[in-house]
Formats: sequence, C-alpha cells, structure tokens
Amino acid sequence: MNAPVKSSKLLKGHTGDWEMVIGLEVHAQVTSNSKLFSGASTEFGGQPNDHVSLVDAAMPGMLPVINEECVAQAVRTGLGLKAQINLKSTFDRKNYFYPDLPQGYQISQYKSPIVGEGEVIVDTGDGESISVGIERLHLEQDAGKSLHDQNPTMSFVDLNRSGVALMEIVSKPDMRSAEQARAYVTKLRSILRYLGTCDGDMEKGNLRADVNVSVRKPGEPFGTRCEIKNVNSIRFIGQAIEYEARRQIDILEDGGVIEQETRLYDPNKGETRSMRSKEEAHDYRYFPDPDLLPLEFTSAFVEELKAKLPELPDEKRARFIEEFGLTPYDASVLVAERESADFYEAVLAKLTDKARDGKLAANWVINELFGRLNKEGGDIATSPVSASQLSAIVDLIGEGTISGKIAKDLFEIVWTKGGDPKSLVDSLGMKQVTDLGAIEKVVDDIIAANPDKVEQAKAKPQLVGWFVGQVMKSSGGKVNPQAVNDILKTKLGL
Ligand code: ADP
Ligand code: MG
Repeated sequence: MNAPVKSSKLLKGHTGDWEMVIGLEVHAQVTSNSKLFSGASTEFGGQPNDHVSLVDAAMPGMLPVINEECVAQAVRTGLGLKAQINLKSTFDRKNYFYPDLPQGYQISQYKSPIVGEGEVIVDTGDGESISVGIERLHLEQDAGKSLHDQNPTMSFVDLNRSGVALMEIVSKPDMRSAEQARAYVTKLRSILRYLGTCDGDMEKGNLRADVNVSVRKPGEPFGTRCEIKNVNSIRFIGQAIEYEARRQIDILEDGGVIEQETRLYDPNKGETRSMRSKEEAHDYRYFPDPDLLPLEFTSAFVEELKAKLPELPDEKRARFIEEFGLTPYDASVLVAERESADFYEAVLAKLTDKARDGKLAANWVINELFGRLNKEGGDIATSPVSASQLSAIVDLIGEGTISGKIAKDLFEIVWTKGGDPKSLVDSLGMKQVTDLGAIEKVVDDIIAANPDKVEQAKAKPQLVGWFVGQVMKSSGGKVNPQAVNDILKTKLGL
C-alpha cells in the first residue's frame, strides 16, 4: 500500500513523528452548453429557475438523454490524466432525499465509471515532483440550490444547477502533506483549464473538493480517515488538512480512536467539525438507472478526441526547456496558467529570431511583465503591454539596438503611455551607441581624469567595474557594457 511518494513532511507529536495521508475527490463542473441529460442551458447567473427543463424538474415520465458533448469532455479529461478510458460504462441511481434534488436520486456512475486509473505529475515547489494516482473519473449530475436568505419564514429552491454535468475525479491516497494536496489541486485545475473541460472557477463552486485525511506512524498501515466535504478554495484545502491531521494526532495520542466521519471546514474559525458519523451515513441503494442504456462508444471516437487534444502543461514545459533553453523553474512559471503560456507563445510568434531570443523573451515575460503585474495587482488579461509590444522590445535588445538597461526605460514608457517600441526608440533617441570611436573617446576622457583609479585598477582588475559604471553614466546608458568592458581592458592593459 505504499504510495510512490518521495518525500514526506512529518508532524511532531509527544509520542513521536506522524505522517499525514491524503486523498481527494474533486468535483469539476463540465464545460458544456447544456446539461448532462437535458437541453437546458448551463449558463451561470440567470434568474432562479430560468434554466430548468422538465427533466431537471423531475416531472413524472420524463426521460434523460445523454449529452454527447459531456461524454467527449470526460474522455478528453481522462486522456489528459493519462488514464484508462472505458468504452463501456453505466449510470446508476444514487438515492437520497434533498430539497434541491427533485428526482429523489442523483444519476451517477458507481461500479463502472467512464474513466479508470490515471496519473498526475505534481511539482511540489522544492524542485521535487511526485506522482499522484487517479483512481477513477465518473460523470454525475449536480443538484440545485436551496436559498434560505430570501425570506424570513420560507426557503426557496433554484434548480438552475440541477442536472449540470460534473466530473468526480478521485485520487489515490498518495499525498503526504498539505502542500502536496494544494499542488495537486493546482495542477489538476491547470490541466482541466488547458483542456477546456472545466473552467476551474472555485469561487463559483465549479471546482470543489472532498478532502480525505488520516494519520499514521511512518511505515504503519493507513489509519482511519475523515472526509471534509466541499472545500472550495485551494488555501482552505491546505488549512483544513493541517487542522484535521493535528486533531487526529491529539486524539490518538490521548489514547482515543478516530471514528470515520464526514466533517465540514469552517474557514472563519479555521477548524473542521463533525457533520455525520459513519453510522449515520446514507445507504444510497445504488442501482442501474433503468432509463439509461449502458454508455458505449468506439475506440475511433476516443482516437479522434486524442488527436485534437491541446498541448498540456507538462509537454509544453518540456518543449520550452528543449527549444529555448529555459530553466525548469522558468518553464514551470510560464506553463502554470494557460493564459501565461499563451501570452509567452504570442510573444515568441512575433519575434524576429526566436531561437536566439526565446530565452530572453521568457525573462522579460516573467521578470518585467509578471513582476510588474504582481506589484500592481493586475493580471495578464488586462496587461497594458501587449505580446507584440513586448516582443518588439525583446527584438530591440536581441539585435543590439538598445541595452537591457534602456529597455527597462522603454518598457516603462510603453507600460504607462503605450506606443510602438521601435518608433519610440527612434523618436526618443534611445539607440545604443555602436560607434566604437565614440565610446573610446569617452573611455579616454575618464581614464585621463582619474589617474589614481587607473593605478588601483592595475593592482586590482575587478575595479574595472567602476570605469564601466562611469562610462555608462556619462553616455546615459546607451553604450553596450560589453564593448566598454573590452575597450577598458585593452586601454588599462588588464
Ligand atoms: P468511498 O468509496 O468510501 O468514498 P474510496 O475508497 O473511494 O472510499 O476513497 C475515497 C477517497 O478517500 C479517495 O480519494 C481515497 O484516496 C481516499 N482515502 C482512502 N483511504 C484513505 C486513508 N486511509 N486516508 C486518507 N485518504 C484515504
Ligand atoms: Mg467517495
């Protein structure tokens, strides 16, 4: 049962070290125009009950009809998770009563899901990566929403969400720390967004997780787990895990036992509390939905979807490293969000010589652009500097028209006032001085004015940096520092 995990973060207790074991069940809303078994719209934010068909309202005698696009989305996701795609799967009824579930059951997949085992490679930040196994992915319906805050004496029900397709993605219990769990959800969300199968919007509840946590002494069998339901932010997932593991350790060290139960995380108090115990757990009486035939498709259908999959973050990262010599860290930063990878690729597409300047472009995207966006709390979608403007700046540096230092001034101008970088360089006279004679003249003047420094530099060649600084200053940063350095070394006989 030992998971393929390289490192663990152990927790200290008074009886020794403890290890956390974590497995996640992520619910991801499928991106589709209509619901899983009806033609009603999945659009967010309509008036309550605007998007409800007779099927979603569970009128007697209505028949569900599977939405082929939702099936394709689940298959795409399975492929993105390097998972087994099952050409035959079945739908079951999971029976329970809920005011916002008019059918009295949820159509889900129990014994035979559409997607089987897969894997997600997760970078944990410290340069290490772990493999988190995927147990399964199945399709199911979402429920509606009860509104308790509209009227002092009544509750209302909004069925707009009822019947919207969800993918439940179940991981193996392969994570050993809150950071690993956070990194896993971050990566999974990124894969879904690259694939376009779920928008990953956690604030709207379009991606949420049930978090299973247990603790054990290292090397011992798994302990009893508790499941924390419906956590809807990556930060809260981390906090809930830390709290829950500590709670379990305290109970075990006091000689108690962990009861398997379902808990809720309260972000205001920073703690989990019991919702229901295993004894109170529902017996869902799963049985095959008699209204739906087994879901079957051909391997040709799967192959067709596979051929059209976009490049995913792991492959993109490997390509950036290979093609442009980016560091693994820089490549990870660029691919982490689909929007930043797209932006970088848009810059690349406009470069005059991307083999030469691809790496320089990555530095500019990460350090100057992202750095500035972070500082000002903006994001890439609203960047004042466009991909083609940034690409023009990088071209100007790469071809030696401006120095990196001047380029920063130029970036500032483009950021605040806009404009075409190439014409700005002309009109503002920002071009680098490439006339060696002119540079030599400045160098000679500075040498002549500072005989004491010349003596010192002869004894201590690093002091040449002082001269370079002086030359840069007197030329307003418009000379190439390497050329200055070379000329100085010759003149000073270093
Ligand atoms: P169930 O069918 O009761 O929900 P599963 O075996 O499907 O149980 O597991 C649900 C989730 O709990 C999975 O994500 C799995 O990785 C996780 N899990 C299972 N056992 C443990 C454990 N001992 N500690 C932590 N997580 C666990
Ligand atoms: Mg479960």
